[in-house]
Amino acid sequence: MANKGRLIIISGPSGAGKGTICYELIKRMPELIVSRSVTTRPPRTNEQKNRSYLFVSQAEFLSMVQNNELLEYDHHFEHFYGTPRKFVEDMLKFGKDVILEIDVKGALQVKQNFPDSMLFFVEAPSEQALYDRLKKRGTETEEKIQIRMARSRLELAQKNKYDYCILNDSLERAVGEIMDILKK
Ligand code: ADP
Ligand code: 5GP
Repeated sequence: MANKGRLIIISGPSGAGKGTICYELIKRMPELIVSRSVTTRPPRTNEQKNRSYLFVSQAEFLSMVQNNELLEYDHHFEHFYGTPRKFVEDMLKFGKDVILEIDVKGALQVKQNFPDSMLFFVEAPSEQALYDRLKKRGTETEEKIQIRMARSRLELAQKNKYDYCILNDSLERAVGEIMDILKK
């Protein structure tokens, strides 16, 4: 059965602005659906439990993997992250466009199974800007920021595998660029 909705994947270094962009996109295009990932990472203090993510134990996550309940998953920053399959597949069948905000490895796994998915890579204007955004967000220790910065270099090296690279210099401009592409 052909899917009717589009799968829109947003990746990029931690701190590049993916979450902020998704928030702005759904404000302006309320017909878009954002998939909620499942993770073993503990909630941050400003994260309402089970709103931004479904927070689960490692045993619960591994059971979801075994039962083929995840469309894709990856292990990074010492935790598992994955996309619940049923919700996404149901929404696509209903004709909804679904956004996945996931890392590069997960995005490329999804592209293999859904070749028509639209891959967006979001990047900050510079390494310094990325560091400043992570620092300002205040959710990670300096050590964890450094781990995220190191991973950002690996992710940036794969941006040529994406359909669209979006420079998140001005939020307004970046969101506008993505909206223009989606509306084409
Ligand atoms: P990600 O989801 O990619 O990890 P966030 O959306 O959490 O990144 O953004 C990281 C920080 O950068 C947040 O504090 C956010 O407010 C800020 N930010 C996002 N986009 C911009 C921008 N264009 N200019 C300046 N700061 C931004
Ligand atoms: P954070 O811990 O900052 O919320 O997310 C860390 C990284 O995990 C980000 O790059 C984010 O895109 C990625 N991520 C979040 N959810 C998923 C998911 O469901 N699958 C994969 N593969 N990565 C995810």
